[in-house]
Formats: sequence, structure tokens, C-alpha cells
Amino acid sequence: MSATVTERSVVKIITGQATSDGAGVRLSRVIGTPALDHFDPFLLLDEFKSDKPDDYLAGFPDHPHRGFETVTYMLAGSMRHKDHVGNQGELVAGSVQWMTAGRGIIHSEMPIQKDGLMWGFQLWVNLPARDKMTAPRYQDIPPDKIPEVALADGVRARVIAGEAGGVYGPVEGITTQPLYLDVTMAPRARLSHELPAGHNAFAYVYHGRVRFGPAEGGGAEMLSTGRLAVLGDGERLSAATGDGHARFLLLAARPLREPIARYGPFVMNTREEIVRAVEDYQRGALLG
Ligand code: FE
Repeated sequence: MSATVTERSVVKIITGQATSDGAGVRLSRVIGTPALDHFDPFLLLDEFKSDKPDDYLAGFPDHPHRGFETVTYMLAGSMRHKDHVGNQGELVAGSVQWMTAGRGIIHSEMPIQKDGLMWGFQLWVNLPARDKMTAPRYQDIPPDKIPEVALADGVRARVIAGEAGGVYGPVEGITTQPLYLDVTMAPRARLSHELPAGHNAFAYVYHGRVRFGPAEGGGAEMLSTGRLAVLGDGERLSAATGDGHARFLLLAARPLREPIARYGPFVMNTREEIVRAVEDYQRGALLG
């Protein structure tokens, strides 16, 4: 007797919206818009990609965060990160910074380069109520500390967080047990990948085209570059490429199922906590 393995299907397709943030950085917002306000525990996903300095040079000058985590993954170019208590570091191509803002961070994220391609992603992951006022924590992961694993013929993945093919990503200690994979598929490749049932999962195609969902019986969709597939629940995800190679981010995490009160860079559970965050920031006491 064998139990039926449930396949995740594509339940919604989201197209990123062109917008700007920081001091005028042009980007595509994929999560955090009216089309997909949030996908518990994911609060925001931005892709920034430009070889025009005017699109990115203004950067993200000093701004606060409280109550969640920001995850910056760079594909090309580099940015310097500085916070108000003296932490700083360089986010170079292939690196990831998983920043748990907790009760408060005020920081800047500014391009180091003056020209050339700047390409990467910023993801916001919510914190549970009990961790929102935790001490800030950085996990700065250089490119050579992110393992790459072959998942199938013509399919490999960089494992940023979670487990894939028996390989564990370097990011650890995150309550929502995230999986964060950067997957590259050759033409005419197939992947069937296990995902924890009950965890919310999405795939975001940033190069080429990928068909996600069951090989037969419906629920599959072909996604082109710049599109995100919200996946239904299940135990496995199937993905397949056509004539071209493709790259996508695969994310999954345990949903928090808590109320969300959100105002710009503050994400708490109640309006009162948001008012307190704004007041704390204004009187220079974000860290308490
Ligand atoms: Fe920030």
C-alpha cells in the first residue's frame, strides 16, 4: 500500500510592478502590492536589475526596520551596508545577508560601484509576535559559503537556507524554517522537489521560462521571466524547462497565522505597536 504524494499546483500568477524605493532605486515589486499584499510569512519581494547607474546610484540611505527580517541576495554588483551601531559589510555578487531587524535597526544600503550591472533581490520575512522585539542579528554569508547541489539531470541549486538534496544552507536559527533556493535548469530538464506540507511556497522566475505544477492532471502553468507562482499546498513541486535554460528562486516557510499591522518599514501585530515603533524611531529610541 502506498500513500499518494500530493503535488503542489500553481494557484495564482503574479507579475511584478515597476516602482521605486529608497532614494529612487528602480525595481520590480513582486510581493507587497495590491496583487499580492503578503504571503505569510513573506511580506515583500523586490527584484532590482539595471545597468543604468541612474536607476540605482541613489541607493537606500538611512532608514529603520522593526519587527521582521530583510534578506538581500545579490547576483551582480555590490552594495555597502552600514547600521547606526557601527556594523558594516559588503554585499557582493553571490552573497546573501539575512538581517533579523528585531526591535530595531537603522541602516543604509548603498551601491559601491559607479556603473555596470546591479542585480539582486530583497525579501522580507515576518517574525512571530514573541520575536519581534528580539535583539538585531546579522547573518552575512559570503558567496563561497553557499553550497551548490545537483538536484536532477541539468538542475542545480544554491542552498541559501533550508535543505535540498541532503545539503543544508548556511542561514540558521530562523523560526519560520525557511527554504531559500536559487535554482538553475538546463533546457529540457525536470525537477521533482520535496517541500514541507503546510509551508507556504512560491517560485519566482528571473530568467527564461519554467513550467511549474503536476506533469498531468492540471494545475500546471508556464511562467516567463518576472513572474511569481503562488503554489498550493502539497508535498512535492514539479518543474520543467522547454528549449531554453532558466533560473528561479524557490521559497517556502512556515506561516505564522498572526495579525499583521504594517506601516512602511515597521511590521507588528497591532496598530498600537506600530504607533510605538514610530514614536520610538522619532525620539531616537528604536533600540529601546
Ligand atoms: Fe533596509
